[in-house]
Amino acid sequence: MIYEEHMVDRQPAVESSPEKEKSLNFVEEIINDHLASGRFGQRVHTRFPPEPNGYLHIGHAKSIVLNFSLAEKYGGFCNLRFDDTNPSKEEEEYVQSIKEDIKWLGFDWEDREYYASDYFEQLYEWAIKLIKDGKAYVCDLPSDKAREYRGTLTEPGKNSPYRDRSVEENLDLFERMREGEFPDGARVLKAKIDMAHPNFNMRDPVMYRILHARHHRTGDKWCIYPMYDFTHGQSDSIEKITQSICTLEFENHRPLYDWFCEKLDIHHPQQIEFARLNLTYTVMSKRKFLILVNEGFVSGWDDPRMPTISGLRRRGYTPESIRKFCDYIGVAKNNSIVDVTILENHVREHLNAIAPRVMVVLNPIKVVIENYPEGQVEQLSAVNNPEDESAGSRIVPFSRELYIDRDDFMEVPVKNYFRLSPGKEVRLRYGYIIKCDSVVKNDMGEIVELRCSYDPDTLGKQPTDRKVKGVIHWVSAEQALEAEIRLYDRLFLAENPDKVEEGQDFRSHVNPESLQVIQHAKLEPSLKGAQAGERFQFERIGYFHVDQDSQGDDLVFNRITSLRDTWAKIASRS
Ligand code: ATP
Ligand code: MG
Repeated sequence: MIYEEHMVDRQPAVESSPEKEKSLNFVEEIINDHLASGRFGQRVHTRFPPEPNGYLHIGHAKSIVLNFSLAEKYGGFCNLRFDDTNPSKEEEEYVQSIKEDIKWLGFDWEDREYYASDYFEQLYEWAIKLIKDGKAYVCDLPSDKAREYRGTLTEPGKNSPYRDRSVEENLDLFERMREGEFPDGARVLKAKIDMAHPNFNMRDPVMYRILHARHHRTGDKWCIYPMYDFTHGQSDSIEKITQSICTLEFENHRPLYDWFCEKLDIHHPQQIEFARLNLTYTVMSKRKFLILVNEGFVSGWDDPRMPTISGLRRRGYTPESIRKFCDYIGVAKNNSIVDVTILENHVREHLNAIAPRVMVVLNPIKVVIENYPEGQVEQLSAVNNPEDESAGSRIVPFSRELYIDRDDFMEVPVKNYFRLSPGKEVRLRYGYIIKCDSVVKNDMGEIVELRCSYDPDTLGKQPTDRKVKGVIHWVSAEQALEAEIRLYDRLFLAENPDKVEEGQDFRSHVNPESLQVIQHAKLEPSLKGAQAGERFQFERIGYFHVDQDSQGDDLVFNRITSLRDTWAKIASRS
């Protein structure tokens, strides 16, 4: 634990975006052009299109915030569309979690909940149309051969020997594909574009594949499934989307997106690409999360160390801070990695404003105030939130026996140590100044108790004859509650967990100390009755969230974040 000398409640605020008008981002500029030219009339209709193959992460939050905020800003709509074309990897559990996460972030798709799988029949008809127009054909090349025929970056591909099948034969084969006559992988339907096209995606891309697999919504109705490229744009088109916003890796799919819309002669949205969010000390891919979950590095998709929305929620992040973070980082055209501290500072800033302060001792050592009457209890008044006067104050009991944190005592103090040490004074937060008179040790020489005295004239005022710099937190022993505290830290030790030595992967950077559990922390009694979901600032320690594992008076707290960025100090020291 790293404490700052006389650390106070305040902390540096995020250099947050001033509330003044922000300049337009490039997506807004494109939308404004569309509005000016009337390309989509005056409509703005976006969508968020998750594939239900995992839980959403903070990167998805960026896309959600972007799509829903644009709709809001322009008085339009944003759809939720499940891009569920891949039967084997998708599950209902993911659909539910995605909906919960978007709602928690504070967005509402109203009745516009769509599924690409609802469009399978329409997509099939459009495939038939392309076959009839001579723009699609059934290809029997096995996949390794098909790869050969595609050519390379420097060499054009070759036409498939099946490319010139007659329309009748194509129609017949495609229908029989649908009927289930052929095994998986035996044939595909391809778009007939240009095998010499400089863009690989335009070299007769696959539109349909055979896959005898059960789909979470359509069951066994289909054994052919459309590919992403033959689904996404068409789904956008069916929903009359205007701007189809996606991440940069789809930039070179845009010509194909446009080709299908043109050849089918259907409503043609504008695809716009932006850079995905990457964070330092974080991996950002459902595939990797699945490994972390399945191999027990974390307790589940909602483990408080996960950058999933459900993990951040359980950790105690607020939806407001995530939305504000997404606004703050903005949208860009080039990929970059955002410092995770920026996200952490946004949650700190929000919690600083809203979280009630309480005193909790994580690593207790007993203090006996020898000149304080036995059996006496004084009710001291403590401010709930110095940032918010309306939060009022509460009562904390003070008595002869207290707990303070072991880290706030040093038998042999180092230079500039302003906390407690033999013969030295310190102020108890909201209370008196105490002085350490002696130290009680056990047989092993470990300090088990501090004997102190208090100055009754120092409640709420400074002594005139001396200066006492340090302020420490404390809890009255008799009234203290106990709780389990889970100190979460970053899950990865490396700034870029994907940068690894030969033969290793991101797993080699997992932080073995990303969770430390404290069993018998001492809490001030005002925390009695705290409910799962509540957030507090433990004075001088950090922000904490009551975990769902709490049962009645058996409270469990998750550390959301320390008060300050302790990693920056570690990094600058090393
Ligand atoms: P992953 O690679 O983590 O599995 P994905 O891109 O496959 O993510 P989808 O469910 O297909 O996940 O994505 C839904 C939407 O969220 C898409 O529009 C996608 O572009 C966007 N998205 C996904 N990851 C990010 C990210 N890191 N930053 C911004 N947007 C993202
Ligand atoms: Mg995907």
